[in-house]
Amino acid sequence: MRIPLVDLAAQQAEVADEVRAGLGEVFTTTAFIGGPAVGRFERAYAAAIGVEHCVGVANGTDALELALRAVGVGPGGEVVIPANTFIATAEAVSRIGAVPVLVDVDEEHLLIDPAAVRAALTARTEAIVPVHLFGQVAPMDELLKVAADAGVPLVEDAAQAQGARRGGQAAGSFGVAAGTSFYPGKNLGAAGDAGAVTTNDAGVARTVRVLSAHGSERKYEHERVGMNSRLDTVQAVVLEAKLRRLAAWNDARRAAAARYGMMLADVLGVRTPKVVPGNEDVWHLYVVQVDDRDRVLHELNKAGIGAGIHYPTPVHLTGAYAHLGYGAGSFPVAEAAAGRILSLPLHPHLTEAQQGVVVDALSGAVR
Ligand SMILES: *Cc1c(COP(=O)(O)O)cnc(C)c1O
Repeated sequence: MRIPLVDLAAQQAEVADEVRAGLGEVFTTTAFIGGPAVGRFERAYAAAIGVEHCVGVANGTDALELALRAVGVGPGGEVVIPANTFIATAEAVSRIGAVPVLVDVDEEHLLIDPAAVRAALTARTEAIVPVHLFGQVAPMDELLKVAADAGVPLVEDAAQAQGARRGGQAAGSFGVAAGTSFYPGKNLGAAGDAGAVTTNDAGVARTVRVLSAHGSERKYEHERVGMNSRLDTVQAVVLEAKLRRLAAWNDARRAAAARYGMMLADVLGVRTPKVVPGNEDVWHLYVVQVDDRDRVLHELNKAGIGAGIHYPTPVHLTGAYAHLGYGAGSFPVAEAAAGRILSLPLHPHLTEAQQGVVVDALSGAVR
C-alpha cells in the first residue's frame, strides 16, 4: 500500500463535475483573463476569512511581494521573517531589493518568536512577516503589539493556513495585509499556481491590483512599474469549487490529526505536534520530531509512505541566503528542529487504516 503525503486525486474527484462545468463556460466564452469566476472567487474568499478585500494573483510568492510593496517596503528596507519557513517568504523580500532579517522560533510550536522579532527591529525595519507555519496562526496577540509599538506594518504569510483561526479570527485577517498561496498541495489548492492578497485596507488592495496588472487600473494608463501577476480564470474555477469544501476538508484534517495524536501517544521517541491554546489548527502538515530523522524518513519512504521534511534547511543556511552572513549557530531552535522534523501523510481523505500503517512503520523505525 502506497500512502502519499497529499492526495490531490481524491480532492479532484470531489469537485470534478463543478470544475468541468465551470471550465466549459470559460472555454466557451473565452474569458481567459479576469473572467467572472475571478471576481466571484475573490469575493467568496474574502468572505470566508472575514476581510474586505481579496486580490487574486499568480502565486503565493507574488502575493507576498505585492503585499509588501503595497504597505511601503522598498529597496534597502528590512523585513523581519522567521528562519524556518519555505524560502518564498525570503524571496518575496529579496525581489523588492529589501533585506530579509531572520529571527528564531519557539521550541514548542516552531512559530516565529515575538521577543526575537522585537529584538531584531531597527530604524530600517519596514515590515514584519509572521508565517502561520504548518497550519496554525502565529502568536498574533504579541506580534500585533510589537508591530504597533514600533509603528511597523505586519504582513502575514498565510500560505499554510487557509481557514486557520485564533480566538475565532482567521489567518490572513490580522495584519495590514496577508499573502497566501493556492499551490496545489496547500489546504486550498488550485490546479497549478495561484495566490491572493487579503486586506481590510482599500488603498492596499488597490495598489496590489494595480501593481499586479502592469501598473495600470485602466488599460494602457500605466501609473507605476508593475508586473503581470493575475489570478488565472481557469484556476479561479477550481478554487471556487474547492473553497466550498475547505471547511469540511479542514475538519477532516483535524480529525486525522487527532487520530495520530492518540495513536502516537504511547510511542516512545516520537514527539507529536501541539496546538497553541486558543488556536484552531488546520494541519497543513503534521510534523513530528524524532532522533535519527534521516534514517527514519528513509525507512518510511522505503515502506511506501510519503513522509517528507518541511524544511530540511533553514533559510540562512541555504546557498541562496549565505550572503546574509548569519552562519550555523545563529538560530539554534530552527537549526535543531531542521534535523528532527518529519512530516507524516496528512490530508482530508486519509483513512484510519492508512494512519495505522504509518504509525506501525514509524513505531518500528524509531525503536
Ligand atoms: C507555499 C508557500 C509560499 C509560496 O507560495 P507559491 O505559491 O509556491 O509561490 C510562501 N510561503 C509559505 C510559508 C509557503 O508554504
